[in-house]
Amino acid sequence: MATRSLAALLQPDLILETTIEQLPLSLLAKYQLRGMVLDVDDTLLPTWDAEVPPNILAWLQEIKHQMPIWLVSNNLNHRRIERIAQQVELPFLMGAGKPSRRKIRQAVQAMNLPYNQVAMVGDRLFTDILVGNRLGMFTILVQPIISRRFDGKSWVRNLEFWLARQLGTPLAIAPSPEN
Ligand SMILES: [Mg+2]
Repeated sequence: MATRSLAALLQPDLILETTIEQLPLSLLAKYQLRGMVLDVDDTLLPTWDAEVPPNILAWLQEIKHQMPIWLVSNNLNHRRIERIAQQVELPFLMGAGKPSRRKIRQAVQAMNLPYNQVAMVGDRLFTDILVGNRLGMFTILVQPIISRRFDGKSWVRNLEFWLARQLGTPLAIAPSPEN
């Protein structure tokens, strides 16, 4: 029973086959999403990089005037997350301990929107997707932005996928927005 429900909690509402900047505004509109909580490391930039890539910046620039967006990171390095938040000019919370709900709740409450109208977007099943589903948000799994120099976390991501499938999470790729 507990295993069943965990399996369901690990299933994203949407699995993007690309990194986050390919997420179109039209898709958010289609699911009636009016706000977004974004993971930071490997979702907006590689964990070991300091600068948000220009294509991600451009995407954020376009979308942030359409809806409230918060960055919520598990990273404990305040200086790092603050610098990134300054680059993209968005509010942030760090040290979130996702799948803990506390700081995600804080961000969504600041938007004054119901949970089901807010997307939780991130690259990890057991943190971003799990916390979003626990709160009844619309969860979107994106492909990680991999550093060319170093990707120390891909094995963790692979292990999470394997574990989720063992638990019975289908992890099916959703149909494309045109369908
Ligand atoms: Mg991440």
